[in-house]
Amino acid sequence: MLYGRMMQDQLTITGVLQHAQRFHAGSEIVSRTSDNKVHHLRYEQFYRRVCQLANALVKAGVRSGDRIATLAWNDHRHLEIYYASSCIGAVCHTINPRLFDEQLTFIANDAEDRFLFFDPQFHDKVMELKHTFETVERYIVLCEDEPEAAAGNGPETYESFIADEAASFDWPELDENQASALCYTSGTTGNPKGVLFSHRSTLIHALSVSGGDWLCVRQRDSILPVVPMFHANAWGIPYAALMNGAKLVLPGYALDGPSLHGLLNDERVTLMAGVPTVWLGLLDYLNRNELSINSVERMMVGGSAAPMAIIHQFEERYDVRVMHGWGMTELSPVGTLGALKNHQASLPPQERYQLQALQGRPLFGVDLRIVDEAGHVLPHDGRAIGALQVKGPWVVGSYYKDTSPESFTEDGWFETGDVAAIDPEGYLIITDRTKDVIKSGGEWISSIELENIAVGHPSVAEAACISIKHSKWGERPVVCVVLKEDAEANPDDIKAIYEGQVARWCIPDEIIVVDDLPHTATGKLSKLELRRRFEGYSLKTDQA
Ligand code: ADP
Repeated sequence: MLYGRMMQDQLTITGVLQHAQRFHAGSEIVSRTSDNKVHHLRYEQFYRRVCQLANALVKAGVRSGDRIATLAWNDHRHLEIYYASSCIGAVCHTINPRLFDEQLTFIANDAEDRFLFFDPQFHDKVMELKHTFETVERYIVLCEDEPEAAAGNGPETYESFIADEAASFDWPELDENQASALCYTSGTTGNPKGVLFSHRSTLIHALSVSGGDWLCVRQRDSILPVVPMFHANAWGIPYAALMNGAKLVLPGYALDGPSLHGLLNDERVTLMAGVPTVWLGLLDYLNRNELSINSVERMMVGGSAAPMAIIHQFEERYDVRVMHGWGMTELSPVGTLGALKNHQASLPPQERYQLQALQGRPLFGVDLRIVDEAGHVLPHDGRAIGALQVKGPWVVGSYYKDTSPESFTEDGWFETGDVAAIDPEGYLIITDRTKDVIKSGGEWISSIELENIAVGHPSVAEAACISIKHSKWGERPVVCVVLKEDAEANPDDIKAIYEGQVARWCIPDEIIVVDDLPHTATGKLSKLELRRRFEGYSLKTDQA
């Protein structure tokens, strides 16, 4: 074989950190911390603090491969842990604070975390669970020095932990395949599973999502990841921003309309990223108060299906280009993003929005296919629906400490657990999760499509579609809706909007107005819990 003659430099997060410090020293990291202060750091200051933390960790005995856990919102200290832990060769283990207590305990023990850095807001939770964490040696609270801690009564503070350390560090040469970060999926069924990212997978993912058709990250951008750093690496933005020298705006815990609006305008944000619920909240606030977000050029929405209201309103009223994406923790997490192709960009707005409501097309580096129940690969014709499988250099190869093969095919694909169609242009159309599929008279009905239509009704805030047993059809769809504050609507009015939007047999049998809908720790609808609530429910359409 004739080898190429190029350098063998490793793709590591250290490379991103050093590039950021050398060539973008003046770029900014802005963050709102739990004390509601807005901190401004230039990359050069951030770099010095990362070095201080790296020195403190090494002095405290952290070794290569050790897991350093965080329970934290998006702020500069969390970002410092991201970089310092990975760049000394340890693993940054982000824990989702919204998980149930038993899951927090399971995760910390499964990961064998040695350190736990936590936000002051989680102080009581950490103290309550401390005795269940079997391997954590040190607890460090992410705040300024506090009198209590100085007096030796409270946990160590982050600022005192790094205070006396040198602001330079001799970074080790790392292998690009070395583990850099760990994140557990929320485990709606069974225990959460750990996804162990490498430097290489993280880097390739960040490079790819930065690309022109995708997030198009430039030095001149100001980026607000509302998506949490404790879940799925905030979609890779903490790496993509520093790689490109962009301004990074970290919103802390306050994700309500007024707080986000303030940051968007004060920091002249050009790109924002988050889940649909956050954007619905922001939209509501902007609309009610007739406010603007003039600096924002584009936004990414994903994590669950984006309702048309988000696409339509941000595009029409606020002149923001909406990119709908699909992904999962196991994909680092971005798999597809909705960038229109040349011949689609000039379509009339309503046709464009229909395309933008699909889940987007794969980035280079992610291969997609759909298969039927027998494992046969199905065509990309936009009609055939099957189990979605993926493969690529930033897709999980096996779970951490979990060797069960059920999520992987013999020919090396990862089973996403999603059900989808793929159109001839490569756009992904997610119709369901495998476990939420509704099969009526032998045909699949997309619960996601029925939910999106319900949310299009002006009085509906949120909708969840589940199947109810039916003696003739096997299953029939029912849509549970939560109405907007002060809104009124009767179920028949809501049902009427399905006419003409879906085939008649897909129209839900019932619309049920409920006070609230159950959610998982990652803020997604918990259909499992909802199905439990409706166990034994009998449909009026079922005469048997
Ligand atoms: P968890 O399994 O921890 O909830 P993720 O946040 O990784 O983890 O969720 C991944 C799942 O979220 C996907 O498998 C898919 O079902 C759903 N999802 C993500 N983005 C979208 C989207 N744009 N449309 C529909 N479903 C989505």
